[in-house]
Amino acid sequence: MSWRRWLCGLVCLLASVGAAADADHLSGPELELVLWPEQARLEGRFQVELQQVDAATLERFRLDPGIAVDKVELDGEALAYTRSDDGWLELERALEAARGTLVIRYGARIPDAPRGPRGGGYLGTDGGFLPPGADWYPRRPAAEPHPFRVHLEVMDGHLGVASGSRVAEQHENGRYRATFEHPGGRALAVATGPWEPVTQAAGEVEIRTLFPAGLEVAFGELYREQAAAYIERFSDELGAYPFATFTIAASPQPVGLAFSGFTLLGTQVIPLPFIPYTSLGHEVLHSWWGTGVYVDPAGGNWSEGLTTFLADYQFKREAGEARAERGQWLRDYAALPPTEDRPHAAFRGGNAGAARIAGYHRGAMLWLMLEDWIGREALLAGARRLFAQWRFREADWDAVITAFERETDQDLRPFFEQWTGRSGAPLLELAQLQREAGEAGWRVRAELHQRVPGEPWMLRVPLEVETEAGRETHWVELDQARREVIVETAVRPLAVAVDPDWRLFRHLTAGESPDILRQAALDPRVRLVTLGDARAEEVAAWLGRVPDAADSDQGTRIVLGDHTATSRWLRERGLPADPGVVEPDLEVASGPRAWAVPGAAVVVISGTDAEARREVAAALRHRSHYSYLLPGQGDAPKTGLWPVPGVWQELNDDE
Ligand SMILES: [Zn+2]
Repeated sequence: MSWRRWLCGLVCLLASVGAAADADHLSGPELELVLWPEQARLEGRFQVELQQVDAATLERFRLDPGIAVDKVELDGEALAYTRSDDGWLELERALEAARGTLVIRYGARIPDAPRGPRGGGYLGTDGGFLPPGADWYPRRPAAEPHPFRVHLEVMDGHLGVASGSRVAEQHENGRYRATFEHPGGRALAVATGPWEPVTQAAGEVEIRTLFPAGLEVAFGELYREQAAAYIERFSDELGAYPFATFTIAASPQPVGLAFSGFTLLGTQVIPLPFIPYTSLGHEVLHSWWGTGVYVDPAGGNWSEGLTTFLADYQFKREAGEARAERGQWLRDYAALPPTEDRPHAAFRGGNAGAARIAGYHRGAMLWLMLEDWIGREALLAGARRLFAQWRFREADWDAVITAFERETDQDLRPFFEQWTGRSGAPLLELAQLQREAGEAGWRVRAELHQRVPGEPWMLRVPLEVETEAGRETHWVELDQARREVIVETAVRPLAVAVDPDWRLFRHLTAGESPDILRQAALDPRVRLVTLGDARAEEVAAWLGRVPDAADSDQGTRIVLGDHTATSRWLRERGLPADPGVVEPDLEVASGPRAWAVPGAAVVVISGTDAEARREVAAALRHRSHYSYLLPGQGDAPKTGLWPVPGVWQELNDDE
């Protein structure tokens, strides 16, 4: 984070901050923080009783070099310290045997608006944000999570929220003061803004929205009601929500972020109609996974996969869209170049492209495969155990696995090691299919193959059999490259398929994997072909970057131009000239369009002029999981997937 150095006098201003709260059931460091949004200025006073913490951890702090330190004192006596350009404040004497109160007073002017897309902290008239893990207070990154109290004071009529539960507050004359307590704080966050506060009770928990007035009128109640429902639901499933308050605060940045006791949602995000039913639930569930049980920063980030599975995926399941969601995840994976494929345990963060597949989709599929194996009850019991044992502590994969293993007789470790540690995925094939009539029923014989390089995967494969009486699922253990499978049915079987409902994280076969537009976004080596007056910059709205020009007919390419030029380019290469050639039933209107050319690693974006193509490119940001995006009725484009034959194989008699 880049702070502008602020060297004005600090002394007079901190006297006004309230003294440490007297309800001392929580003992640990305290932070008094005063924020002036109109001046983009902050002042802080960090205080800790040496006997309450391991004093040796108080000799060295992270503090942004742009922050001016006013004084460092032990029981009122100045302590000598050094600052380094890379952000350390170090005391010159050891504190191990010392007692007393250590105080650090500091202040800074900070940027008054977000700088850059991911930027650091800022404080201004539109809002402010001091992110976790940034050095806006004396932070001890190596310290275990510990009790923490924040006394927050915000001027200029703004309000604020900090990590933890809000335990007291006061408004007077444009000055807002509140106290937040965290029983096991780690990296603290603060947000401020010109907000309209509305609070409602949900059982024991106070739910608050902090939205600008217009958004409060339109959406406040919906967000509070939905948050209350999520907190009740997840508390029932996983153990009680771990804070006394939950706040949904609006941010000028286009974000969805979760912190202990609050979530930040962008002012442009809040009005999107699906957010209260999807992302909000995901952010609430991070109160259990991520900001309740912390992710050990030394290991992989397990929290996004588990949160996606227990929130987003369950919502899809309840809407009857679970299979479609799994299919979309596996088609995205099929579009990922092998060089970009990462094991789940390598995921640290990021929510787009290859990182999303490794962290969110691989993770959610891992939990689905575990649920299919050990059952929903054991899975939820494991989750409850993980939360109960690791709340406000840093859990690594080993801790996660142990919690789930205790709820079942199975040895789960090889399963987790495989699905967190390996990149790649199995590719399955059914061969030598035969149907035999037996004395009491029918028999299907087949060979089940794994067609991937390296060690075979250990799998429980759902083999689906369509019989004259309906569908049956037969789970088949497979841990070798090939095995014979015999399935018995009472009724005459008609057709067989391996995992047609995508319950395994696996490579799709050619018969179930239509080309999709995202293949161009997922390939870092994608190249551009610009025809006529088309310019490379037109794709920036989709990819967030401008790839190089293609110098050959090899590799993934995006072809940009008008319809005539792109059709000619495709015809010259023996490819279908437009989407109507691929699918004759598809009505293709004359407007701008994007489509993936089947089997060619080519995505075409065509339209009469640059503006039309740029609009299509922008629409692709949220619709590239389809095969095509064509002009539709009104504003909504027509989207869809190329038809594929699927994986069902009909049985022929062998009598
Ligand atoms: Zn998340």
